[in-house]
This record gives sequence, structure tokens and C-alpha cells, in this order.
Amino acid sequence: MRLILFGEPGAGKGTLSAMLQHRVGIKHVSTGDIFRREIARGTELGKLASGYLSKGLLVPDDVVLKIVAELFQDSEFSKGFVLDGFPRTVAQAEALDKLLSEKGWTIDGIIRIKVDSEELASRLSSRRVCRSCGAIYNLVNFPPKVKGVCDKCGGQLYQREDDYEDAVKVRLHVYDTQTAPVLDYFKNHKELVEIDTTGDDAEASYVKLFTALGESKGRG
Ligand code: AMP
Repeated sequence: MRLILFGEPGAGKGTLSAMLQHRVGIKHVSTGDIFRREIARGTELGKLASGYLSKGLLVPDDVVLKIVAELFQDSEFSKGFVLDGFPRTVAQAEALDKLLSEKGWTIDGIIRIKVDSEELASRLSSRRVCRSCGAIYNLVNFPPKVKGVCDKCGGQLYQREDDYEDAVKVRLHVYDTQTAPVLDYFKNHKELVEIDTTGDDAEASYVKLFTALGESKGRG
């Protein structure tokens, strides 16, 4: 299955993609995780990306597209994937269509995850991430068993720099101006379905996602 999860920062794309990978075995591809990994390793790509991530700005399209094109060469991808955080601009969406058609692949579902803006802000400020395995927690509705420690691997939890208030404002503005137009680009795709997860915990959101995937398949 090939899926795209789409939504504002904090909508739950990462959490739901990780659940899909864990429970159904669909490969989770997060361009944000790729950049954070490269930054942690101190690579050239990491150095280039770091300034954009810390400010909440998008990494330039050519850099992102090169990474995605390389990923698509990996044989693991032919079995399916869930894209989290890509595409984020209309140029990326167009390039993705081209890459898919070169491979003869189609997308089975584009899931637009909606969450009301107050809840987005609160989810972002209470999000904590494991430095070692990338697991995502929420201090309010999904706290770790031991404060500051990952349940899964014992790694240290931290707050992403781009989840600080100033960067969040920039990211939401970037979403409105550069990423939201991608929805218009997708609007003629019959695979596009919307779920509203305002007030839902991860489990309830996952159930909605699964139901939506069934609807999307039914239309295909
Ligand atoms: P995320 O983890 O998806 O919230 O992404 C974190 C940050 O990584 C974003 O704010 C951007 O700086 C960068 N990033 C991730 N995906 C993309 C993308 N598709 N295009 C441009 N920048 C991206």
C-alpha cells in the first residue's frame, strides 16, 4: 500500500505513520526524521538542513527531491510506504507524481488529517521525542512511564527546537502559504479522504485513519 499522510505540524502524521509501520508493516518515510538524523550525525546534508529546521522553514525543494528520488531506488520501497511530511510544496507534489509514474506506481490513499488550531498548538508544545529511536510522546495524553525517558528504548526525551513557540508560528505560516496549496493540487485525486482527529487520542485517530483507508479503497 502507498499512502500519503497530510496535515499541519502537530496533526499526528508521525504518530499515525509509526503505528501503521508497527501494526501493518508499511514502511514509514518521514523527511523530517531524515533531516534530524543527518543533523545528529553532523553530515553535510545535516549542516545544510539545520538552519531551515531550527527556524521552522522548509528545506529547498531540490534538496528534498534528491533524497526522495534516492529513496525510491531502494527495493524496499516497491513493497509500499507511508509518506509523512512529503510532499510539502506544489513543486514537490508534481515531482512525486513524476517519480511515481516513472516507477509505474499509484497512490492508494491521501489522508488529510484535520485538527483544530488550538489543539495543534497544545499538541506541539507538549510533544517530546526520543533522541535515540524517534518515538513520539505527548506530556498531556501520552506521557512516558518515567519522566524524560523513552518507554521503548530507555533513550532521552527532548523537545524539538522547532516545537518552541516562535518556530511553531513560522511553521504554521509556512503550512498555510506553501503546503496547504498541495491540497488543491490533490483535490481531483479520488484517493483523497479527510479525517478530523480533534479531541482524539492516538488510538481513536488510528481507528479513523483505518476507516478512511477503507473508504478510499472503495472509491479506487
Ligand atoms: P517534520 O518532522 O515533518 O515536522 O519536519 C521538520 C522540518 O523538516 C520541517 O519544518 C522542514 O524544515 C523540514 N522538512 C521535512 N520535510 C520537508 C519537506 N518535504 N520539504 C521541505 N522541508 C521539509
